[in-house]
Amino acid sequence: MTFQRIALLAAAGVWLAGTAFAQAPAAAKKKKKSGEDNTLGYTDTPQIPGQKWKVHDSSRPRPRMVTPGAQYGQPPPDAIVLFDGKDLSKWVTSLKGQQIEPKWKVENGYMEVVPRTGSITTREKFGDIQLHAEWAAPAQVSGKGQLRGNSGIIFMTRYEVQVLDSWDNPTYADGQTGALYGQWPPLVNASRGPGQWQTYDLVFEAPTFQGENVVKKANVTVFHNGILLQHKQEFNGTTPHRRNGEYRPHGAEEPLLIQNHNYPVRFRNIWVRRLAGYDQP
Ligand code: MG
Repeated sequence: MTFQRIALLAAAGVWLAGTAFAQAPAAAKKKKKSGEDNTLGYTDTPQIPGQKWKVHDSSRPRPRMVTPGAQYGQPPPDAIVLFDGKDLSKWVTSLKGQQIEPKWKVENGYMEVVPRTGSITTREKFGDIQLHAEWAAPAQVSGKGQLRGNSGIIFMTRYEVQVLDSWDNPTYADGQTGALYGQWPPLVNASRGPGQWQTYDLVFEAPTFQGENVVKKANVTVFHNGILLQHKQEFNGTTPHRRNGEYRPHGAEEPLLIQNHNYPVRFRNIWVRRLAGYDQP
């Protein structure tokens, strides 16, 4: 760099600094003149299109504080913990019209599917939720395609996000792990190997009905091991095998189901947060 260029840059720096200093008192002067403290917003701004609030509206409710877990995956204080590694007290198995205690194995902080004992559903019902769950397909690989580490997170007992050992395991795209089963394949395959713990962070929005008709379809966002697989993707309806699903009216809240597909898939650290809309207290 030549001396002239350095001098030029230095001069520019001085000029910029001078400009900044020159502007600062002007801004302060203006604020002082108005006598307003706008820390908490404004009352004289235009309406935001489509909202009842003004830009920076001082009367708009501030979001409530939620303290995150100390480490990633830990439930925050407003979470409903569905499985903390100790027992299945938040779950039931429906068998022949009766609700019985689940027969799944609980040990070492995880639950494990016991084949042919039925799926498990939550005692509590949910609508829109954020869900965190960790799962591991069997370390011992047996079977292929859909017959390998198959389970599923089934919202409202109807809408399945597939759980499958999709590590080096070719199968139809809309049946891979993270698929909206039979409808939408995941955007990518973010699987870890058999036996390794994997994370699911899902956001589910329940459908709404008017009479017999669905007026808002269910949708889900899926992060698998922190990687986006589905972005607010809509369910076409229920998620059956080999045919199209459908919407049939049901409650605004329904239980969450974990599928027993007769493979010893493990789950741990399952919690949900009920979701409310914007501007809620
Ligand atoms: Mg499944």
